[in-house]
Amino acid sequence: MTRVLVTGGAGFLGSHLCEVLLARGDEVLCVDNFFTGRKQNILHMLDNPLFEVIRHDITFPLYVECDAILNFACPASPKHYQFDPVQTTKTCVHGTINVLGLAKRTGAKVLQASTSEVYGDPDVHPQPEEYVGSVSFTGPRSCYDEGKRCAETLFHDYRRQHGIDTKIVRIFNTYGPRMQADDGRVISNFICQALRGEDITIYGDGSQTRSFCYVDDLVRGIIALLDQPKDVAGPINIGNPREMTIREAAELIVKMTDTPSRVTYHDLPQDDPKQRQPDITKAREILGFEPKTPLEEGLQRTIAYFQAHGC
Ligand code: NAD
Ligand code: UDP
Repeated sequence: MTRVLVTGGAGFLGSHLCEVLLARGDEVLCVDNFFTGRKQNILHMLDNPLFEVIRHDITFPLYVECDAILNFACPASPKHYQFDPVQTTKTCVHGTINVLGLAKRTGAKVLQASTSEVYGDPDVHPQPEEYVGSVSFTGPRSCYDEGKRCAETLFHDYRRQHGIDTKIVRIFNTYGPRMQADDGRVISNFICQALRGEDITIYGDGSQTRSFCYVDDLVRGIIALLDQPKDVAGPINIGNPREMTIREAAELIVKMTDTPSRVTYHDLPQDDPKQRQPDITKAREILGFEPKTPLEEGLQRTIAYFQAHGC
């Protein structure tokens, strides 16, 4: 049995990871400060004797024993990571140092949840792992983008300096059940606006693109990376290469929810990336990863989740 520590385990992605790890017989220690995580996301796991929760902020050191660590603690939506940008940078940098220190002491392998945001507003398209990015280090997204880039630097240095088994996944926009209704991300915003019959809020003219991955596909890719031998360190992009404009996403959600909502246009936030599509050649070759869930099916499940749990 493997003892896996999941930081951010009560969040959207973390809770899905905890579920999959428990299902395969791992012991799971969920560490979360509940900034954006919720008890509801993990309630159904609490009576599993292999599941344990600690309320803890990873910017402070943690002394536990484990065999593997998935470092997912960090607010992910622009609205949440910009709420307290200094804390976001601390979580990415101090938090990651604490997590790597824990890996160094215990000999655990450690996987970092990095992000497509390390590519910033990319001028290479689609984005391969070799692309070094085009990132503002002073704008409103910088606390997250630069924090995540520094976390990757720390992962590389702990590997080189201390010989730790490190792995980095660069996650592209992921959606699915347990996203928060009010997190400001585009899929949750559009679905909840549609279900409430409110205006659908497109920022800018909606020509910017994103590529959306269903959460089950992403989790499968992450577990495949975790299970790789030590010489596979990444970074590896995981996402779904199907790219669409934000306007197309709005139109699809309007159609699928059969809502009377109107599509409205608003100011584009500063430094909003114009295009984003993962190059997943490495994930395909090294992990045998292939996204399986068509967007329409993933959206249907996400709409059903918000219908059942409320927006
Ligand atoms: P989320 O906000 O739902 O989850 C983050 C979790 O981390 C929450 O449970 C939160 O309470 C916890 N947390 C935040 N700061 C903490 C701290 N200092 N100490 C302990 N816990 C803390 O977001 P998510 O979408 O599940 O994202 C999880 C991870 O995946 C993040 O690291 C994020 O950067 C990364 N990621 C997500 C996406 C995506 O599309 N969802 C894309 C790229 C990267
Ligand atoms: N967006 C939008 N309307 C919304 C929320 C987001 O048009 O109500 C846009 C946003 O400006 C961005 C894209 O959708 O261009 C994706 O935004 P999100 O915050 O989900 O992810 P990120 O920008 O971090 O990829």
